[in-house]
Amino acid sequence: MKIVVKYLWLYIVCIVDLCNSFTVSSSRFSQWIFREVKWILFVIDGACKHSGNCCKSIQISYDFFPIKTINRFNAICNHDSNMTRFIPNVKNDAIDFFDCRCLTSDNYCSSYQSRPKFCVQYPRNILFSDAQLYEGCGYYLKQVIYLPFFSSSSLKRKIMCFKFNNHLS
Ligand code: SF4
Ligand code: SF4
Repeated sequence: MKIVVKYLWLYIVCIVDLCNSFTVSSSRFSQWIFREVKWILFVIDGACKHSGNCCKSIQISYDFFPIKTINRFNAICNHDSNMTRFIPNVKNDAIDFFDCRCLTSDNYCSSYQSRPKFCVQYPRNILFSDAQLYEGCGYYLKQVIYLPFFSSSSLKRKIMCFKFNNHLS
């Protein structure tokens, strides 16, 4: 997207956000606005250092919902064999986190070409979902554009939290 178009779209989205916050206050709509703004304000830079952190003790969402029960996980594996690589760790009858059979001892993916979509999307997915950068990740967030001064206070707060959660002060 050209820089002028980016600024124009940012201003439009921020005005729409203000209108939303003073009228219907739709949370679904403000969620869409937040994601749209993240794409404009930030880029992801850096490279993989093979820490393996994005493949160990991970939370997995499927069809937009986190997998929390063994029954659901088994049902997912029955129709998507790609998911059988994950090993659920259970705590108090619920899935606490997953490990992955494909992670090698030197933190490479042994199934790189056929890894699931959410593995392919990391770290770009932090800009279009609730995902966050993992601790010690070689990728980092860079802010290239700032919110206009008239942006709503809730949008400013969300962007501040997003930066904090992704180690950008
Ligand atoms: S499939 Fe590969 S990239 Fe995905 S969690 Fe497993 S080791 Fe990591
Ligand atoms: S957390 Fe980041 S640096 Fe570590 S393996 Fe994943 S992408 Fe690479």
